[in-house]
Amino acid sequence: MRVQIDDKEFDLMLEYDQIKKRTRLLGIQLNLDYENKVPIFIGVLNGSFLFMADLVKEVNVPCEMAFLRVSSYKGDSSTGIVREVIGLDIDINGRDIIIVEDIVDTGLTLSYLIKQLKEKKPASIQVCSLLYKPTALQAEIEELTYIGFEIANEFVVGYGLDYNGLGRNLKDIYRVSKVPSET
Ligand code: 5GP
Repeated sequence: MRVQIDDKEFDLMLEYDQIKKRTRLLGIQLNLDYENKVPIFIGVLNGSFLFMADLVKEVNVPCEMAFLRVSSYKGDSSTGIVREVIGLDIDINGRDIIIVEDIVDTGLTLSYLIKQLKEKKPASIQVCSLLYKPTALQAEIEELTYIGFEIANEFVVGYGLDYNGLGRNLKDIYRVSKVPSET
């Protein structure tokens, strides 16, 4: 199946059914690993909102939830891309943290986020990402323990992920089309 979003066409890559099945397995793993703990799931906005909602429904250990945003903007030539963590309004000192991401691409955003959160002295940090592009990774991330799907280095959209702000509401995940449509 093919969809048009803004000026690009996308082909179906992962159906919601597959996402749900994989999420259920991630939940089972988390329930085992966090038995007798009370972790805090921290969703990274905007992209993770649907995955976070489905993931925590599969978790049955007592847990808390929070969201934050990592904004990035272009600094001057000496600073390059400047990142900033916004909106984390809970104390994570001594707590077990599970960062919930939509996708890890270069990993630079996540590395920055982990560094910032470590300064607040949590007991542990692990990352659960729905998607992971191993060939795009620029920074090794040892906390990336829970992965939904490894995908090729291509642009994807849907299930929380956007293209030019659009497509987050799509239930399935699509990859950018390489072959133009015949119509
Ligand atoms: P990184 O710092 O790992 O390169 O980038 C992470 C962020 O870039 C993700 O949280 C996501 O917002 C965005 N991103 C990376 N790859 C894709 C992609 O294929 N599709 C979409 N929609 N966003 C992406």
